[in-house]
Amino acid sequence: MSKILEIENLTVSFDGFKALNNLNFSMNTGELRVIIGPNGAGKTTFLDVITGKVQPTQGRVLFKGKNLKKIPEFKIARIGIGRKFQTPRVYLNLTVRENLDLVCNQNKNVFPTLFSRPRNSEQRTVAGLLETVGLYSKANLNANLLSHGEKQRLEIGMLVAQSPDLLLVDEPAAGLTDEETDNVGALLLSLAESHSIIAIEHDMEFVRQIANDKVTVLHQGALLCEGTMDEVQNDPRVIEVYLGEAPSITPEQINILRIAASMAWADGNFAPEELNVILDKLSQEFATNTEHQHNLKQELQNYLGKNITLEELVPKLQNSTEKEKVLQLSYEIIQFNGINEREVKAYQQLLQLLNLPTETIEQIETEIKAKYN
Ligand code: ADP
Ligand code: MG
Repeated sequence: MSKILEIENLTVSFDGFKALNNLNFSMNTGELRVIIGPNGAGKTTFLDVITGKVQPTQGRVLFKGKNLKKIPEFKIARIGIGRKFQTPRVYLNLTVRENLDLVCNQNKNVFPTLFSRPRNSEQRTVAGLLETVGLYSKANLNANLLSHGEKQRLEIGMLVAQSPDLLLVDEPAAGLTDEETDNVGALLLSLAESHSIIAIEHDMEFVRQIANDKVTVLHQGALLCEGTMDEVQNDPRVIEVYLGEAPSITPEQINILRIAASMAWADGNFAPEELNVILDKLSQEFATNTEHQHNLKQELQNYLGKNITLEELVPKLQNSTEKEKVLQLSYEIIQFNGINEREVKAYQQLLQLLNLPTETIEQIETEIKAKYN
């Protein structure tokens, strides 16, 4: 069977620190490969090297037998490697159909796209894509009206429109509702019938949904083990590194951050921009230095990626100091997000559950309002 990707003795150093350390990897054409690993394992760096964003310090990457060394990022996209970033990059002021039309016509003159109707063959392609990503009924809606999960699917459709031979997706389930996670999983499985795909993922439930083929586990920049999902999950080395991944902040701090994040979750999902701002804000709150903040942001993505009810979380708060911290962070989050109706409701429910003295609430709210005005 032909190899779509081979990676030989790959090392990537950042100022002497080896984010990837003598890594060997290979995958067959047509495979859907899931790559998992604890935070800092080197998963994102792995994608960065394949797409030419980062150059190998040592070793090489072969795509369909061709060494990718020194090929610039934009050219790598053209030779057939498409990457889906975590934040959707769709044109919000165009309709779903127009977004797809644009990519389908990308390598031709831009003007025909704007001033004439697409030819029939292209229209069929766009129609086919709309069907594939499950957005047929929303084809004429402006992309800004889509949910976060629908935008993710549209962007996957836009990537597929460029007919990449290898599709790379980085944590496609992060920040999605359970229903959208299922949809994106089903989409990847259907694309896997005709594409080679690498999916990086941290969410284990999602991995179980899509990992019919081989799973690769990275740890400290190297390959820890490979096998079916069952094999990997029962491998003592895997269990050890995942168990060893104790959170770098205390359970009490995690609880506080979860409650604050649930203010922004009140409307069903995180918009990616929102998620990023919140992760920044919350990771700054408890991180001890910049390196810790970078890692904590990753960790929080996993902790905050699922919606847990306030009724479950608030009773775990230990004392009034923790309660006040929760109130302060939650109020800040709804302040800089602009408050919608559901967030107001969530906040009111929080106030009720916290049961703090009115003067304390007023004092904290006043302080934060002053900070943002
Ligand atoms: P993962 O995606 O598996 O969480 P990353 O590939 O993002 O891991 O990072 C692997 C390691 O390399 C981490 O310890 C991270 O802090 C470090 N790292 C990643 N990018 C850089 C960079 N540009 N400069 C310095 N260190 C980096
Ligand atoms: Mg990563």
